[in-house]
Amino acid sequence: MHCNHCQQPFETSPADQSFYTKMSQTVGEKEFALTAPTLCVDCRRQRRLAFRNERNLYNRECSLCHKNIVSIYSADKTKTVYCPDCYWSDNWNPFDYGQDFDFSQPFFPQFQKLFEVVPALSLILDKNENSAYNNSCAELKNCYLCFDGGFAQDCLYGETFDYLKDCIDFLFLQHCELCYQCVNCFHCYELFYSRFCENCSNSYYLMDCTGCKNCFGCVNLVQKEYCWFNEQLTKAEYEQKLASFNRGSFQAHAEMAERVRAFWSAAPKRASRGTMNEESTGDNIFSCHRSFDNFDCKDLQDSAHCQQVILPAHDCHDLDKWGGNTELVYNSSGVGSGAQCIIASYYTAFNANAIYHSAYCWFGSSNLLGCVGMNRHKQYCILNKQYTKDEYDALLGKIIEHMQKTGEWGQFFPPQISAFGYNESVAQEYYPLTIEQALAQGFKWSDYQTPAPTATRIIESKDLPDDITTVTDDILTQAIQCQISKKLFVITKTELAFYRDHHIPLPRHHPNQRNQELKAEKNPRKLWHRNCVQCNKEIDTAYSTDRIEKVLCENCYTQAVI
Ligand SMILES: [Zn+2]
Ligand SMILES: [Zn+2]
Ligand SMILES: [Zn+2]
Repeated sequence: MHCNHCQQPFETSPADQSFYTKMSQTVGEKEFALTAPTLCVDCRRQRRLAFRNERNLYNRECSLCHKNIVSIYSADKTKTVYCPDCYWSDNWNPFDYGQDFDFSQPFFPQFQKLFEVVPALSLILDKNENSAYNNSCAELKNCYLCFDGGFAQDCLYGETFDYLKDCIDFLFLQHCELCYQCVNCFHCYELFYSRFCENCSNSYYLMDCTGCKNCFGCVNLVQKEYCWFNEQLTKAEYEQKLASFNRGSFQAHAEMAERVRAFWSAAPKRASRGTMNEESTGDNIFSCHRSFDNFDCKDLQDSAHCQQVILPAHDCHDLDKWGGNTELVYNSSGVGSGAQCIIASYYTAFNANAIYHSAYCWFGSSNLLGCVGMNRHKQYCILNKQYTKDEYDALLGKIIEHMQKTGEWGQFFPPQISAFGYNESVAQEYYPLTIEQALAQGFKWSDYQTPAPTATRIIESKDLPDDITTVTDDILTQAIQCQISKKLFVITKTELAFYRDHHIPLPRHHPNQRNQELKAEKNPRKLWHRNCVQCNKEIDTAYSTDRIEKVLCENCYTQAVI
């Protein structure tokens, strides 16, 4: 079978097939099969991610109360955008936009007409305090530019996290405090420039370490103290070495990072990162059972091709983000908290049930097809029009049949329906395209430029002081121009205090650029068949076959490391 989008050959596994059978929908007396996908795993994921703008925030007006708000929709978009207060109020009604289904047309153009006019929520934020500039977050206090997470205090520039305090520049952190530039770390304290660590503290530049403290530049260590590039030192020797490294200097860090990188990459790598998994494949997976091809996931059962599902879920295929008592979900994004039986939908959560091809339908809504913005137990609706249960069932059966003929049933919304330019969307982070490529593939592009602050003094990042000790408070009144993206960014007061306290030089790159650099530290979300370099056992690994690292199976890795 060849993918309809990239033309590459792809296979569906027996586990995929039996999942598709499970996702057949019984309507009245009839059973409607979920047709096998016509797009490969990557193209399905790319299409879903192109629907999602997570990190690009803009100022604009609420279309209802006209207050100035922060939003994921730039001011040039014609969309009706409501601030959370207006969106969750009784001052608008999703049924006002209801449409009849037209059997002379395919489904998606009809959905697009509805999707474009129903008011959109400016930002997805819940229960936050002093944290306006964040998105896809809940329970934040004093946070700035954090995305996809919750339960954090005094954190800046992070993505995918929970239970954090005083962390800056991070990716996939849980239960951490005072961490800087860390990726995929859990239960860590005062950890800097580190990757894939657990229970580590007061350390710098660690990779794949567990239970270490006072270590520097180490890899694959367990329960160690006072190690320098994996060499055991005495406390006095370690302290002397640490004192001789000028931690506050940008130049000293640049040189150290290069040395560390070479040391890390020469060390053996485990085929797949994670613990407590059974009959499962993927990377950075934890407590997964009979689940394959998942990335950054936790507590999955009988699931596949998911990413960032970190709360319990079972029987979910092709789901990006969330989970939590979530089951029977296919080809959807942003589904969680008790959601069940969801096909090809976007943001359907909080006990949503039996939702097909819909967006932003939550809080107990059920039995919806092609709906937008439904909540509070709305049910039996098609294209935002209310039906009785019998009418709904009769029409649902006919529409599924129609969509099976048009090849739309089970497909995620095509690129032209996305509210965002491809370059604003998460898809650009994982599947980068030029403007020409994106447009040729049917995606949109945004040429919106955020107006530059006029009164601010601008300093080029190359002109910043090398050492944090020589930085004055004057930096708080200036905007820094990123060397790479040329975008302007500022240093906040809390941030400057953190850098001074922990001897960290000022960053040279814009937060979005730094986020991209942290993402590049991870393996791609793809698996390759290889053989363990030690015992030759077949392994599925996110290290591609042309990578030079020594990749070991779980057994050989454990023996080599402990
Ligand atoms: Zn493809
Ligand atoms: Zn408003
Ligand atoms: Zn082996």
